[in-house]
Amino acid sequence: MKKIGVLTSGGDSPGMNAAVRAVVRKAIYHDVEVYGIYNGYQGLIDGNIKKMELGSVGDIIQRGGTILYSARCEEFKTEEGQNKGIEQLNKFGIEGLIVIGGDGSFRGAEKLTKKGYPCIGVPGTIDNDIPGTDFTIGFDTALNTVIEAIDKIRDTATSHERTYVIEVMGRNAGDLALWSGLADGAESILIPEQKDDFDEVIDRLKKGHERGKKHSIIVLAEGVGSGFDYGKRIKEATNLETRVTILGHIQRGGSPTGNDRVLASRLGAKAVDLLLEGKAGRMVGIQNNKLVDHDIIEILQEPHTIDEEMYRLSKELSI
Ligand code: ADP
Repeated sequence: MKKIGVLTSGGDSPGMNAAVRAVVRKAIYHDVEVYGIYNGYQGLIDGNIKKMELGSVGDIIQRGGTILYSARCEEFKTEEGQNKGIEQLNKFGIEGLIVIGGDGSFRGAEKLTKKGYPCIGVPGTIDNDIPGTDFTIGFDTALNTVIEAIDKIRDTATSHERTYVIEVMGRNAGDLALWSGLADGAESILIPEQKDDFDEVIDRLKKGHERGKKHSIIVLAEGVGSGFDYGKRIKEATNLETRVTILGHIQRGGSPTGNDRVLASRLGAKAVDLLLEGKAGRMVGIQNNKLVDHDIIEILQEPHTIDEEMYRLSKELSI
């Protein structure tokens, strides 16, 4: 293989740039040409493709977002869209593609692989919702952003003796809520993987209040429901002064943490290795700090799970 392409797709995440850098540098190290495909699958259809050099990825390892930009593209879900993408790849002589993104982006990569076009997926999303890897690129940075925000909210929650419901991202996964809730000593953590025991949340709040607790933090994963609805229900059930904060897109930005930069560098380089070994339709991941790869479609059929022991611990520590 002498020419490969790289694109970022779906929701962006901090560390995608470090992954792009690793792909470009590792390929050039092996005397392989690399083409950057801009705006995800939309750019692939449109032929928005440029050759990348060592210098194209200088000074980006520390930057959030993605220099290749990202996009959602409905047309690529159709066979016609995929064929248009392949036409462009053939036009540029690109023989293999690395797709950095979430599970949706991986489904696109699988479609191309099925049509005989080798692709490798690199998991980049703050949601940590991809099976087959302990961590996705961007999760650690987003976690630290949430922790910093909740620390600040905690200050004002204490001053005003309020209960705060904080809604965090994660789509259908509760990882960001669970990890940040544990790291911030939240009284309750509500995640989609666990049955929503609203009565228990209320019970904890009431008992805490009776004990003289002045404030409470409840972390709610967006996959469970609306923070405002929960805030209203809590106020009605307890009559405690309740406020709601939805952290929103600040969770997707910022300079990647050391962990995310290292993870992105390792996974990006591993993806190049796989393509050069002639592999296709694989995703790279990290499990027990070892680099691994899995069949994309098989792995996407596995359910996303959270660490049950961590969930139990969060309850034991917030009695
Ligand atoms: P993420 O990759 O973050 O999960 P999306 O689910 O929005 O984000 O997917 C990103 C893009 O991947 C979509 O806009 C579309 O272009 C492509 N994609 C998603 N699902 C499929 C599919 N089933 N077949 C082909 N392409 C897909």
